[in-house]
Amino acid sequence: MDLLKLLEDRFGFGAFRPGQRPICEAVARGEDALVVMPTGAGKSLCYQLPALARGGTTVVVSPLLALMKDQVDQLQARGVRATAINSAISAGERRERLAGLERGEWEMLYVAPERFSPHFIERLQSCDIRLLAIDEAHCLSQWGHDFRPDYLRLGAVRRTLGSVPCVALTATATPRVQREIASVLGIDDGHRFIQGFDRPNLSLTVIETQRNAEKLSAVTGNLGDGVALVYCATRKNVEKVTAHLREAGVRAGFYHAGLEHHERIAVQEGFATGRIPVVVATNAFGMGIDKRDVRTIIHYDLPGTVEAYYQEIGRAGRDGEPANVVLLFREADRRTQEFFIQMSHPPATIVRAVYDTLLTYRTDPVWITLERLALDASLRAGEDLTERTAGSCVYVLQREGALRRISPNDRCGRITWVSPAPRRQPAGLRLKVLRHLEGLRVPGSSQLNITPAAIARDLDITREQLTAALRGLEARRHLLYAPPERSGGLTLLHPDRPLEIDEQRVLERRAVEYRKLSKMMAYAVASCRRRFLLDYFGQQPEWERCGNCDACRSGRTDLDARALTDTEELVVRKLLATVARMGRPFSSGMIAKVAGGSRDRSVLAFRFERLSTHGILGDWSVQKIEALISALARAGALEEGYTTRVISGKERTYKDYRLSDSGVRLMREGAAAFADEGGFLMRFPTAVKTTRASSARRYGGPDAAAGAAAHPELLGQLKEVRRRLAREADVPAYVVASNRTLTEMAARRPTDRTTMLALHGMGPQRFQRYGQAFLSAVREWAEG
Ligand code: ADP
Ligand code: MG
Repeated sequence: MDLLKLLEDRFGFGAFRPGQRPICEAVARGEDALVVMPTGAGKSLCYQLPALARGGTTVVVSPLLALMKDQVDQLQARGVRATAINSAISAGERRERLAGLERGEWEMLYVAPERFSPHFIERLQSCDIRLLAIDEAHCLSQWGHDFRPDYLRLGAVRRTLGSVPCVALTATATPRVQREIASVLGIDDGHRFIQGFDRPNLSLTVIETQRNAEKLSAVTGNLGDGVALVYCATRKNVEKVTAHLREAGVRAGFYHAGLEHHERIAVQEGFATGRIPVVVATNAFGMGIDKRDVRTIIHYDLPGTVEAYYQEIGRAGRDGEPANVVLLFREADRRTQEFFIQMSHPPATIVRAVYDTLLTYRTDPVWITLERLALDASLRAGEDLTERTAGSCVYVLQREGALRRISPNDRCGRITWVSPAPRRQPAGLRLKVLRHLEGLRVPGSSQLNITPAAIARDLDITREQLTAALRGLEARRHLLYAPPERSGGLTLLHPDRPLEIDEQRVLERRAVEYRKLSKMMAYAVASCRRRFLLDYFGQQPEWERCGNCDACRSGRTDLDARALTDTEELVVRKLLATVARMGRPFSSGMIAKVAGGSRDRSVLAFRFERLSTHGILGDWSVQKIEALISALARAGALEEGYTTRVISGKERTYKDYRLSDSGVRLMREGAAAFADEGGFLMRFPTAVKTTRASSARRYGGPDAAAGAAAHPELLGQLKEVRRRLAREADVPAYVVASNRTLTEMAARRPTDRTTMLALHGMGPQRFQRYGQAFLSAVREWAEG
C-alpha cells in the first residue's frame, strides 16, 4: 500500500509531517502503537490514514463532542466516509448510522467513551472493525490530569472486539502515564512513538526572584521588542502586571476568564492582527490562538504542572525563528499552586455541603451558576467557597454517580404562548418555526419547554437562525421566549439515597497533583532545561546538554549538584538536627521558623522555643532556610510527604518533611560518610537573595559590600550608555535596561558575564545585545 499516494489522493497533503510516516506504516500493518506528540503535530492523521489503508471500519474514541464534529466534518469534506454516533444526534439518526455501520458503509466511526454500552458493543461485534483509535488517551490514566472513568472500559472493549489493532494518541503523557495507557489497552508490546517535544528554537531561561518588585522588573526586562505573552496564575496578577507594563509604556492587553465575551474576542483579535503586541493572561488564553511569531513567553507565576508549562511555552516561535521563554521562579509560588490543588480536590465535608445545597433547590433539573452555588453552599459549609471549588464538587459528585450534567445541547428554553394570538401571521422562517412549535404545543398549557438544538435540527436550520426567528416572534407578540440558561443544568440521580463519597480517591488525586507540582519545581533547578522537558515526556535526546538554555549557555555549575564546603556542610547538619528534634514531619515554613529562632504562636504552641536547635540558623532568613529545605529534599536528605489536617475547622493538605536514611547519616556522620558513594552532592541554594547585606555579599566582594548603594556618578554614566544604545537600536530606553537594572549595576559593579547576568532583568538575550557596552562602562569607571 502506497501511503504517500493515499496521503495525496485522500487528504491532499504533499508530504508527511515529521514522525508521521513510521507511525502510519506500523499502524497500517496492524501493529499496536502508542503515540505521544505535542498538540498540533498532526496526530489525527496517524490513525486516519491507516484507517483508509486498512479498509473496513475504524472506530475512533474521542472525548469531546465539539472536536468530534469538527473532525467528522473535515473528513467528509475530503470525501472520507466518516460519521459520529453521540448524544448530539437524534435517536432515529443514531439507529440509522448504526445500521449503516453494520452494512459497512462507514470508513470511520467517531464515538465518545461513554457510548460503549453492552448493547453497543454487541452491535460492533457484528461489524468489520479493523482498527481502534483512542484519541486523548491520557484520559484513561489515573495519573494523568484529565482522568475519565469511561476510558477505563476501553481495555475490555478492545478485548471483546477480538483485540483489534489499536493506536492510542495523546499530547501529554509522562513515562508512567504511557505505561498505564499501554497496560489498560493491552498494547504493552506495541510500538512507542514519543517525539516532537524538542523545540530547539526556544531558548529556555529560569530567573529566580524573591520579591514581587523583582518579578515585575524582570518582566519588563525580558519582554524583548517582539510579540510577547506573559502568563500569570491569577486574575489579580494579570491586572497587576498589565498595569506595570502600561506604566512602562508597553502596549499591553490582558485576558482572563473574568472578562466579558466581547472583551475577550477584542483582545484575541488585537493579538492576532498585531495591534496588541503584548498580552498578559491566565492560562485561559491561548487555545485556538495561531500566532506564529510570538518571540517571548514569560511566566510570571509558576505553573502547576510541566504539562501545562510545556503547552503554554509551545506557543512561542511557531515560525521556527528563535524565541525566548522565561520562567520567573520563587520558592514561595508553590503555595499558590498548592492552594489551587486544595480547591480542586475539596474534602468530603465540602462536597456534602454542595450536595445538600443542591437538594434544597427542589427542581429537576437544577439550573444554577457556579457562582450562585458557591455562595449558597458557603452558608452551609461555614466557609467561603470559590467558584472553582463549587465546580470541583460538582465534578466529584458526577464521578461518584450522584448527578449528571446536562450537556449544553440538551438544555431547555421555554416558550410562553401569548393570548390572544396576534391576528397577523408572520412570514418566512418565522412562520415555519411558529407552525413547528404549535405542533408541539401541549393542550391546556401556556408553556412549552424546548431544546433549541433539537428544534434547529428538525427544521434543518442553524441555532442562530432559530434564535432570530424566536426573537422576531416575540417582538410581534406571538410568544415569549426564555432561552436556555447559560449555566449548567444538573440532574440529581438519587436524591433519596444517602451520598457516598470515595474520600480515598480524593486524597489520591490530590497527591498526584502535588507530585506534578514538585516536578515543575524541579524544572526550575534543572541543569539543562531542555533535557529535563524531554526526559519528562519520555523522549530521549542524543545529547547530554542542549547548549541553548540558561543553564547550558552560562555554563553555570551552581545548578548542578556539587560537594558542600565545610561551612555549608555545618549549616546543613544544623538544619537536619532541627528537623530531627521536631519529632514528626512539619511544613518547611514551620521548620524554617524554628531553625531561624522565631517565637511566633505556632512555634510556642509546640514549645519548640525550648529545643536546643531553636534559632540555630538565626542569621538566615526564613525564605533562605526554606530554599535550603527544598534543596535538601531534592538531594535526598529530606523526604517529602503530605499530611492532611483539620485546622480551625478546615481541612488542609500540607507538604511536610522528615529525615531520610541518608539525611540521618549526613546529620550524624557528615559528608565523609558518603565517601564510598562519590560524596554527598547537592545544589546549595546560592541564588537566594534575602537581605540587602546578603545580596551585596554575594554579588560584590568587599567593595560592593561596603557600599551596597548605587554610585551616583556611575549610575549617571550607565544611563548615558543606555541612552546611546536605545538611540542606536531605535527602541525605548527601558527595552535596553530598566532603571532597576541600572541602579543594581551601579551598586554591584559586575565585571563579567556571570555577575552581569545575576542582575535584575539582565537575561542572556539582553546581555548578548547590550551587555558588553555596560561591562566596558563599569570597567572604565572602576579603572578611572
Ligand atoms: P494534533 O491532534 O496532534 O493536535 P491535528 O491532527 O489536529 O494535530 O493536526 C493539526 C493540523 O495539521 C491539522 O490542521 C492537520 O490537517 C494538519 N496536518 C496534519 N498532518 C499534515 C501533513 N502531513 N501535511 C499538512 N498538514 C497536516
Ligand atoms: Mg488531536
